[in-house]
This record gives sequence, structure tokens and C-alpha cells, in this order.
Amino acid sequence: MHRLVAVSNRLPLGDNPSGGLVVALQDALGDSGGLWVGFSGEPSDAPQDSLEFHDGARFDRAAFDLTAEDYESYYLGFSNSVLWPAFHGRADLIEIKPEYLQGYRRVNDRIADLLLPHLKPDDRIWIQDYQLIPLAAALRERGVTNRIGFFLHIPFPDPAICAALPNPGEMFGWFSNYDLIGFQARRDLRNFIEGARQLSQAEPLDDQRLRLCGRETRAGAFPIGIDAAGFIDEARGAREEDRMRSLTDSKMMIGVDRLDYSKGIPQRFRAFQLLLENNPDLIEKVMLLQIAPPTRESVEAYQNIREETEHLAGRINGQFATVNWTPIRFIHRPIPRHELAGLYRQANVGLVTPLADGMNLVAKEYVAAQDVADPGVLILSRFAGAAEDMTEAVIVNPHDPWDMAAAMKRAIEMTPNERRRRHAALLQDVVEHDVSWWVDRYLQTLG
Ligand code: UDP
Repeated sequence: MHRLVAVSNRLPLGDNPSGGLVVALQDALGDSGGLWVGFSGEPSDAPQDSLEFHDGARFDRAAFDLTAEDYESYYLGFSNSVLWPAFHGRADLIEIKPEYLQGYRRVNDRIADLLLPHLKPDDRIWIQDYQLIPLAAALRERGVTNRIGFFLHIPFPDPAICAALPNPGEMFGWFSNYDLIGFQARRDLRNFIEGARQLSQAEPLDDQRLRLCGRETRAGAFPIGIDAAGFIDEARGAREEDRMRSLTDSKMMIGVDRLDYSKGIPQRFRAFQLLLENNPDLIEKVMLLQIAPPTRESVEAYQNIREETEHLAGRINGQFATVNWTPIRFIHRPIPRHELAGLYRQANVGLVTPLADGMNLVAKEYVAAQDVADPGVLILSRFAGAAEDMTEAVIVNPHDPWDMAAAMKRAIEMTPNERRRRHAALLQDVVEHDVSWWVDRYLQTLG
């Protein structure tokens, strides 16, 4: 068996790390005596020139440090002020600075230097996400010939947006160093192949293979799943009183998103406002619980989205609230997974309406958490990767408040039979295509 070496931007630390990717990779890493490498989490004044190993997991974990300057240019800069907006279709938010690209290249080179002494000849290496696209190229330059896979957790944009990056040709060159490039959705795979053809003269071959920058690589869609069994247990364990909802005629809709401009939270609030304006009978009968923990707060675009969201929630609450009822409850703090599971189960409607999203795990978690006898309704944006397979959700266009308000009304009024039928189909997909299925399929294809 080949040892698996996973590399991601953040290393999961703590003795009992949770989160989908951790659950997903711990079996594959544990069984192969694997190694997970990632950033320690806090910038350091005196970064070590070797990896720091941590105990306490079924596999080795090794952290690298970053200086404040590297963190700024590689992480906040190129990763989150260039690639993140571009890949989510927001070329207008891209902030190009030469030092961002330099920092991105420099940190990836450094990770390659730190990783090199720990690699064995038959290791399989699996690199995760947009912060690390150049890592295979950096390893190849240092003589690494192992199989190296990559998985992009966020969307891949269409060629017109790729062309807005400072270095589209260089980016496809980085990708060409992987043996397998995995995407969340078929849409992303199509965009990648088209971008590679238009901007890098790539030539598609048969069997998912592609001739790119003088190398042969493979690319495929591997939609990620959740730890469905774990989540179902978590939700079943939620407090009994959480199941009182069907005994009252007041309904709850829930949104759970990092406070990111890609998640469409203001658009969701406007649709809710429209719903209340056009259906006065729903006043005091339905509320929206929005959980939106802070993220990347030092990037300006995130400060702006926070202001816009808070302002809008305040305005809508001012417009409609009564002495007994507040239409929008907005929580700007992270909520632990087990509590979320109970809230999902309590909510009659799950609102997952991003403007762009790689997959969106909340959509799958909401489905897994429902009571099968009396399930809630998932409203899902057509722009979430999840929409490709979760076709029994109520699919909406998040840019159209009329469409979303109509979907909310329909979901609130849906008959128990229709709710159960839709939920059963969704749940089957979430359980069959869980995160272990995803890991197995990816690693089998990587070979
Ligand atoms: N999450 C959480 N607490 C919160 C908000 C979110 O644990 O307060 C989790 C949520 O359960 C999900 C993940 O964060 O597992 C978000 O994943 P998703 O794919 O929906 O979006 P991302 O944040 O990766 O863009």
C-alpha cells in the first residue's frame, strides 16, 4: 500500500479535530500510516526551517510556519484577494499586486522545500485547494516523480474570468504537473478544459486525459460528500424539545454560511423582505435564522459584506418586527457542529442560496439532519455545485428575489407528502455519496 501524504493550507490540530475533510482523510491516512502537512494557523516572527510534528492522531501531522508577510501576500493576498474572487466569478473584486503573486510562489516553494526530506519514493501525494496550486510544479522542480493529485474545493471559473488573472498561462502550467486534477462539479471540469484550450493551447485526449503545457494530465469531477452517518447521529442526538416545531404554526428558515460575498446573504434577505411585503399573513408566522461567522476580516471586501448584511438585517427588522417577533435573527459567531445539527433539524426550510459555490456542504448537512417522518425543505441555488446532483431540492436563481420569495412560500406551504418524497431522494444521494465514497473514488482514479 502506498503511503498517503495530504497537504492543505490549514493543518487540523487538536486531539479531536472535526470537519468533513478531516473525517474523510483520517481513514485513508490512518490505514496507510500517512502524513498530513499544513499551516500551523498563526503567523510567526521566527518561522522554523523544518516541519513541526504533532502527536495525537492516527497519522502523522506536521505543521509549517508562515511569517506575517508571507501570510499577508500568499494567504490574504493572492489566495483570497485574487484567486477566491476570480474563481467565484467576481473579477470586479480581484486586487492584483505583484507582491501577492511573488508571495504565493515563494510560500509554495518553501512548502516544497520543507516537505522534500519527508517524502518516500512510493508515496502518493494529494494536495488540497487553491492556496497550493503551484505545489506540484515546485516539487517536480526538486526532482519529485511521485504520483501527485490535486483537488479544487471551490468552483473553476469560465475562461473570460481566468483571463483576468495576472498569470493565466502560468496557472495552467502549474496544473499540468498533476497526475489527476479533481473538481467539485462537471461545470468546473468543463470550464477548466475550455480555459486550458483557449488560454494554454491544451489538447483534450480520450479518457479524461489532457495534453497541457507539454505534459499529459487527467481531470475529472469528484463531488465531495459529508460524513453522513456521523451527521445523522449528531442530529438524532439533538434535544427532544427541538422536535416541537410541528406542534406550532410558526415556521423557521435557516441559513448557515461564513460571512462571504459568494454566499448571497443580502440577496436572501431581500427575498425574505419581498416575501413579507407580499404576504402580510406571514408576519409573526415565519422567521429567518442566519448564522454567519466572521471570516477573512482583514480583507476589505469582507468588511463591506458585513456592513451590507448587518445594515439590511437591521432595516428589515425595523420594517416588520412586532413586540413579539423579530423576522431576522442574525448570529455573527461560529456555532459548533452538534448545535448546528439540532438547528438544521428544527428548521422547516434550509436556505442555501450562494451566488457561486464549489459544493456547499451545508446543503448536504441540512438534508442529513432532518427527521425523515417530518422533514424540512431544502432551497438550493443553481450556482452551488451541490445543485448538479441534488435535483429534488427547490432550485432557485439567487439573483432573482421574486423567484426566491416564491420558493420560500412554496417551501413553507409544501405538503408533508411532497416534503417526504423530495427528502427521501436527497437523503439517499447524501448517504450513498458520502465523504468516504469521495476519497475512495478519487484515490482509485489517481492510482
Ligand atoms: N460551520 C460550522 N459552524 C458555523 C458555520 C459553518 O461548523 O457556525 C460548518 C458547516 O457545518 C459546514 C462548513 O462549516 O460543514 C461550511 O462548509 P461549506 O461547504 O458550506 O462552505 P465553505 O465555508 O467551505 O465555503
